Amino acid sequence: MTPERRDLALATKGFMPADEGDALRAAAIDAAGAVPEAPMLEVGSYCGRSTVWLGDAAEQTGRVLFALDHHRGSDENQAGWEYHDAEVVDTRIGKMDTLPFFRSSIHDAGLEDTVVALIGRSPVVASAWTTPLAFLFIDGGHGVEPARLDYEGWTPHIAVGGTLAIHDVFPHPDDGGRPPYEQIFLPALESGRFELISATGSLRILRRLS
Ligand code: MG
Repeated sequence: MTPERRDLALATKGFMPADEGDALRAAAIDAAGAVPEAPMLEVGSYCGRSTVWLGDAAEQTGRVLFALDHHRGSDENQAGWEYHDAEVVDTRIGKMDTLPFFRSSIHDAGLEDTVVALIGRSPVVASAWTTPLAFLFIDGGHGVEPARLDYEGWTPHIAVGGTLAIHDVFPHPDDGGRPPYEQIFLPALESGRFELISATGSLRILRRLS
């Protein structure tokens, strides 16, 4: 990854620390080595911060990265809320619209030939998806139901030997919200279909076994 592209990722709005972005990219490159030809998919792109790290991995390994988001913001990040960023609101309709920021990030990173935006609700896209994935990154809705639906809808599409990456996994309630831990991380391990490979901050990397 060029220093320029990494700096661009670090300058993009979002909540992915540098060490986690680097670990995410390394895991995606490993996953491509384990599963020939299959694409990568990210659930929850927001303004494209993590997408630049993953897009770099996809470009380097000759894969396509699908970047899925409805771009209306998560339930916990809306106008008037504590973490809300007024810059990402479409004032015409009074709703969030992160797509223009996402497009700028991917354009400026030079990744438009590698990253394909999927704009829609995760369960709707998942219900029509059939292509096995080398790498799946879940960083979508952090509520109980969105997290559960992302687990159910997307993890079956990971190829055996492929990788599941989960963001914002907080085993201790004091550190952050529980759903990515309780609705995605634990069910994946308890299913027996995945093993834990590594942890970096709140990022968890799991490999599909069967
Ligand atoms: Mg996150």
